[in-house]
Amino acid sequence: MQRTWMALLVLVSACGDGSSVAADADIGVPEFRIENVDDSGFVHGVTFRCLDLVADTPQSFVSDGPHQHTLRLEVAQMQSILAGELVELIFTDGHEHSFPIQKPEDACVGLGDAG
Ligand SMILES: [Zn+2]
Repeated sequence: MQRTWMALLVLVSACGDGSSVAADADIGVPEFRIENVDDSGFVHGVTFRCLDLVADTPQSFVSDGPHQHTLRLEVAQMQSILAGELVELIFTDGHEHSFPIQKPEDACVGLGDAG
């Protein structure tokens, strides 16, 4: 976890615009939750923590809901999410789900490399 936090600090400073906001208060909402959007009849929520999304290795996120699904995100996908892009995960693990993942604007602020 310490290593992840260090990487975060580097990203923040690389994106800096000269303002003197404290690094540990600069990312806005530290996590966000998305739900699947599909016709499966099941509702799953997945919570994405900003500090997990800045990892430099693929990460797995486990959904809640009537049963569990594991969503695996590649590094490039996590970086797209942090940049505010929409990343849609579709999988057919017994039944099909579609997870349109897009962070709220006030979450994980400054962690993408768009700036
Ligand atoms: Zn399901």
